[in-house]
Amino acid sequence: MTIAFDHSYARDLPGTYLRAAPDPAPAPRLLVLNRPLAAELNLALSDDEARDWFSGAQVPPGAEPIAQAYAGHQFGGFSPQLGDGRAHLLGEILTPDGRRFDIQLKGSGRTPFSRGGDGKAAIGPMLREYLISEFMAAAGVPTTRSLAVVATGEEVWRETKLPGAVLARVAASHLRVGTFQFFAARGEEAQVRALADYAIARHYPDLAKAANPYVALLDAVIARQARLIAEWMGLGFIHGVMNTDNMAISGETIDYGPCAFMETYAPGTVFSSIDHQGRYAYANQPLILGWNLARLAETLIPLLDASREKAIEIANDRLVGIAGHYRTEWLTVMRRKLGLLGEDEGDAALADDLMTAMEGADWTLTFRRLADEAALRPLFDDFTKMEAWLPRWRARAGEGAAQRLAAVNPAVIPRNHNVEAALTAATDANMAPFHALLSAIQRPYTESEPYMLPAPTGFGPYVTFCGT
Ligand code: AMP
Ligand code: MG
Repeated sequence: MTIAFDHSYARDLPGTYLRAAPDPAPAPRLLVLNRPLAAELNLALSDDEARDWFSGAQVPPGAEPIAQAYAGHQFGGFSPQLGDGRAHLLGEILTPDGRRFDIQLKGSGRTPFSRGGDGKAAIGPMLREYLISEFMAAAGVPTTRSLAVVATGEEVWRETKLPGAVLARVAASHLRVGTFQFFAARGEEAQVRALADYAIARHYPDLAKAANPYVALLDAVIARQARLIAEWMGLGFIHGVMNTDNMAISGETIDYGPCAFMETYAPGTVFSSIDHQGRYAYANQPLILGWNLARLAETLIPLLDASREKAIEIANDRLVGIAGHYRTEWLTVMRRKLGLLGEDEGDAALADDLMTAMEGADWTLTFRRLADEAALRPLFDDFTKMEAWLPRWRARAGEGAAQRLAAVNPAVIPRNHNVEAALTAATDANMAPFHALLSAIQRPYTESEPYMLPAPTGFGPYVTFCGT
């Protein structure tokens, strides 16, 4: 087949990227191809095409690979130049219903933005992104998708020698908060404006008609990101590196590195080996949401109003509203997770009190089992607080709650011990555990042992790595 690539980013935004070709993989081997996603994108790929095109072995006809420039605050410190150091955007495709997606290779070799890095990736982290992003999609959370992972036949050096791989990633776009920061930090106001215009046209086309489209853009990104983080919190998802370069303007979850799902609920949970201060701990994610959006707002100041003073006032006004906005989104998620119909004044207190009562219990299964006290009790060492909370919930939730809980609260999530087992086996060339886990997490609301069970005692404390 041929892929009908388009290149609107390259065409509309000269000066925001550099041309760079993927490294040819010496002995590519297709590890996983996402056929349902390929079908959704109208790509009738053969296995051989997927293997060659998504490993860098061949540049597919019509692709014009580029590496995008971006900056970013990493753990609070500003890096003026990051950019795609190990990724190549092949181009964009349009679905029959008119949606535009980037197709990007990750782990495909060095680019002018690689700095000291080798531009490569190992099988484990690429399959990890595949698993977790596909779970997020199955759970209805906005996310970049994974189209394929291809082993390159090359070895990459991390702590040890590991088999290399390339991930083909599909995204609504790869515009990041950090993309805006790159040009704002260089004082390139025209480029920031061009990026904003592009973002509006691509992600928020209705806003072009707004009185001030740039203020509307800021509002729209705030709204989508607040909703996204609320969804993460509902699933117990901890991104792990909420740097501004890893926050997408589209509102999709992007850059699955050291992310992981919380099992036992503890607000301070951190998995990433490099997050020593707990900056990106579970309960901090809503605060980082506001912090990152403040960085986006700063880049837009020259566009928000002709008067700088007025522009700062507009931005401040928006930023002050984020906490309340997020809280509303969180409450919406919690109402859904608790099987509540409609809205009641007491819902916020009910949700807040559950957060206190369920500390130390399995996050996922507690919601799943709320209507089944016999199954719920064993999740708790001390059931006293739940004992007091449950009658309030029952009174509010009413009839049919059990069915509603089961429809929206996953039974299966990518539990850390299962993910690790699948990736370890894959690194040893055994893909069977990966495929078994993948098929379970793609049907998250279907109870499936052993995947729904918490980690056996003795597993952990769990630590994740960036895999870079
Ligand atoms: P990340 O932590 O994956 O969001 O990446 C942060 C920055 O480091 C981005 O600019 C990446 O392109 C770059 N980077 C990560 N891993 C590598 C690598 N192996 N080689 C080159 N650049 C990398
Ligand atoms: Mg990143």
